[in-house]
Amino acid sequence: MNCPSHVTRLAPSPTGALHLGNLRTFLVNHLMARQRGWRMLMRIEDLDGPRIKPGATENLLDDLRWLGLSWQGEPVVQSQQLDAYGPALEALVESGWAYPCSCSRRDIEQAAGAPQQGDDATIYPGTCARRSPEEVQALAGSENRPAWRLRVPDEPVTVDDGFLGRRQFCLTRTCGDFVIYRNNGLPAYQLAVVVDDAAAGVDVVVRGDDLLESAARQIHLRRLMGLRPEPAYYHLPLVVGPDGRRLAKRHGDTRLATYRQAGCPPQRMLGLLGYWCGILDRRREAEMEELEQRFDLDRLPQEQVVFGPEDDAFLHA
Ligand code: GLU
Repeated sequence: MNCPSHVTRLAPSPTGALHLGNLRTFLVNHLMARQRGWRMLMRIEDLDGPRIKPGATENLLDDLRWLGLSWQGEPVVQSQQLDAYGPALEALVESGWAYPCSCSRRDIEQAAGAPQQGDDATIYPGTCARRSPEEVQALAGSENRPAWRLRVPDEPVTVDDGFLGRRQFCLTRTCGDFVIYRNNGLPAYQLAVVVDDAAAGVDVVVRGDDLLESAARQIHLRRLMGLRPEPAYYHLPLVVGPDGRRLAKRHGDTRLATYRQAGCPPQRMLGLLGYWCGILDRRREAEMEELEQRFDLDRLPQEQVVFGPEDDAFLHA
């Protein structure tokens, strides 16, 4: 199927060097785009203040090019277009869906009782959602800048995922009213993604399944902002370590840059990733063209990929 009108994007966060986990997701996004004729864009998601590492953007773009990934046009860098996000917040405040919040993390934890499992650790108990219009006005204009939260709907939000199938999320139970602007004056991830995807005409999103619940938040936001239809979503299982936890530093140095410096050629890296994607039946070197020709989403394993010593040894061979 060739649909030249579709647009997708790679949206790395320069919080450190690329490791094998995000690389596999990026590769699948690339292969799907190539096979289906989607336009590929690049967006650098660098609003997550302290976690952003200097120089990481250049390094990660270099790593991706080295592997053979490509995109059209210049990368969009979120920190360089901060004016883009304010109007969305204003409209949501205007419609009554967004409200200022002065709660500290500690306030929220205390009000919510024991922390819940999950990415956000706690469900926002709605403390600031019930303020009077006068209080809201005072808070919005106060010297101590508030954060801004978005009210979530009572009814479940459905995510129709092209890989995982149909999933429903009741946002009152997964996160509660969530932050769309932080008290440092920067847009939060959820709002930034929606604004940027809409501005670029992105209608296909391929990313890790740790963001599946975020898709429900983003669908809710998009509806409030009058953005329809929803993008096609493909959330892919993550790469984990032998302990079943998401691949990270604790599993050793699995950064692409490290293997690259140790002499691993791109074909070897692609071979491992291709094997993990169900394209190759064993670890062996492969060219990007072969992966582009043979990739089949139906053969992508449904379960998480476990990174083990054989994988590390193959890349160091
Ligand atoms: N920047 C996010 C990440 O690196 C991806 C966001 C997205 O694809 O929506 O996990």
